[in-house]
Amino acid sequence: MKTINDNQYLKENEHLRTKCIVYMPMFSICSVHGYLNGEHEYCPKCDNTLIKLDEKILKSIN
Ligand SMILES: [Zn+2]
Repeated sequence: MKTINDNQYLKENEHLRTKCIVYMPMFSICSVHGYLNGEHEYCPKCDNTLIKLDEKILKSIN
């Protein structure tokens, strides 16, 4: 299984993050498991608190 540090990845790929938000407006990111479809409070695999990218964050970016 490939492990990605998503925070670092997103910092280095701002344009990709924007693209992901456009096409996947409702998903969460686990720092261990990466992107998870849907809105989750915690990772279903490891119980990490997730980074949620939802409408509230979209508004703050815009
Ligand atoms: Zn996880």
